[in-house]
Amino acid sequence: MSKGLRHVVVVGAGPAGLAAARAAAEAGARVTLLDAADGLGGQYWRHLPAARPAGREHVLHHRWSTFGELSGALRANPAVTVVESAQVWSLERPDGGIRLNVLVGEPDAVGRAVLVLEPDALVLATGAHDRTLPFPGWQLPGVYSAGAAQALAKGERVAVGRRVVVAGAGPFLLPVASALLWTGATVVGVHEAAGPGALARGWLSRPWELAGAAGKAGELAGYVGELARHRVPWRPGEAVVAAHGDGQVEAVTIARLDERWAPVAGTERQVEADAVCVSHGFTPRLELAVAAGCALSPSRFVVVDDAQATSVPGVWAAGEITGIGGADAALAEGAVAGTAAAGGDLGVVRVAVRARARARGFAARIEAAHGVRGGWVRWLRDDTVVCRCEETTYGRVREVVELTGSHETRSVKLTSRAGLGPCQARMCGRTLQELLGDAPGGDSDAGGTAPGVDRRPLVVPVRLGDLASLPSTSASTSP
Ligand SMILES: Cc1cc2nc3c(=O)[nH]c(=O)nc-3n(C[C@H](O)[C@H](O)[C@H](O)COP(=O)(O)OP(=O)(O)OC[C@H]3O[C@@H](n4cnc5c(N)ncnc54)[C@H](O)[C@@H]3O)c2cc1C
Repeated sequence: MSKGLRHVVVVGAGPAGLAAARAAAEAGARVTLLDAADGLGGQYWRHLPAARPAGREHVLHHRWSTFGELSGALRANPAVTVVESAQVWSLERPDGGIRLNVLVGEPDAVGRAVLVLEPDALVLATGAHDRTLPFPGWQLPGVYSAGAAQALAKGERVAVGRRVVVAGAGPFLLPVASALLWTGATVVGVHEAAGPGALARGWLSRPWELAGAAGKAGELAGYVGELARHRVPWRPGEAVVAAHGDGQVEAVTIARLDERWAPVAGTERQVEADAVCVSHGFTPRLELAVAAGCALSPSRFVVVDDAQATSVPGVWAAGEITGIGGADAALAEGAVAGTAAAGGDLGVVRVAVRARARARGFAARIEAAHGVRGGWVRWLRDDTVVCRCEETTYGRVREVVELTGSHETRSVKLTSRAGLGPCQARMCGRTLQELLGDAPGGDSDAGGTAPGVDRRPLVVPVRLGDLASLPSTSASTSP
């Protein structure tokens, strides 16, 4: 591989990263594609490992052939180095440049290979993880984030339970229910928090614009048909407001919600289930973008221009870290970002630029219809755990606010310990901010552009031995 070419590193091999890596290579760059997972595809194309291939993997995926085409093109291109199981655990800015510290190998293994990269250009395509609002009993075994349940179903063909309730908000609940059905689980019901009014406002306004997203609409229609065939009810304007059980989920309480997502008194009913999968949208994985110094929008996404360039010279971003738009948006943004990062001509990716505009319209509809509304706080009780790592309750958070008079996330975190545990506020950070009514950026940041709860200098826990084995020079090591 030529060392004279511009070196573009792409972090994340989901739809956005795969498209970015291919576009950058086609624009003439030397490309290194890194992903912490042991396979390519990200969340959308998560699949069984090569050592245990499925006979009919495509049945669980949309655009499976696009994945085959992208990954095949990357593996066949000598200008591209694909490194799987490559966890970027920190990003530094030596003399204004970019340095990525990477560990390659099994996530918790001893003696993982150390890789230090100093690319000419960086594309961040680190995606998102799903967000779960707390409710009484959500710390019981048997309560899963919908993303975890889907990962087990798609990546291991394991069902999280026999009788499973799916709840939360957004179209993502449908593929989760579908994946559970494929693994043999009985899906008792899908409960969508958005009510008919919000759904109509989000999805039925300017219907002609949806013609450009015919593929996505077809995908949704497929899921709806599948739920109907299995007689799975899909109920808008409802939520799981409590889980019950003795050491394991045995039942959940479901309630109707008003337009603000506050439970309507008297509508509660109990449903037997041994698992519940909950997701209320997505939270972008911003650690590397924050470490690079990228500006964030008030709604906490990486700000990019038309070429997907961030506010930091040499750093581009694509996919869910720039907004929740689905796989089509991620693919289009990736193609634009990769081309731009390689110094290529954006005219070459005109089709992607148009697809990006259509996909962004789709994202705006998702937010209008399914975006979290503040009334959910009404299903909390004082003993409801808000931070599962530190077991901080809603009552304790309220008490701290009362005692200190502070509504600042940082101050309440330090006093109540919410958000200070092993997940470093990945699960509860946004929740805490909403409960406190703090600005989205946290730490009294009115503009919302400060790192707030998303600053994690170490992206994942790292062994001291791995730190000790870091090269002392700034020289970039292979690939
Ligand atoms: C759990 C989950 C399940 C989803 N399932 C569906 C679905 O079934 N259908 C659907 O239409 N949409 C689904 N979505 C939404 C869909 O994933 C996105 O629309 C699309 O995959 C976004 O693509 P992306 O490339 O931006 O990110 P992703 O596909 O999330 O890819 C990001 C990649 O970055 C890697 N990464 C992140 N940080 C690092 C790091 N520090 N070092 C190395 N690698 C890193 C991750 O391992 C991941 O592979 C899901 C989202 C989530 C969070």
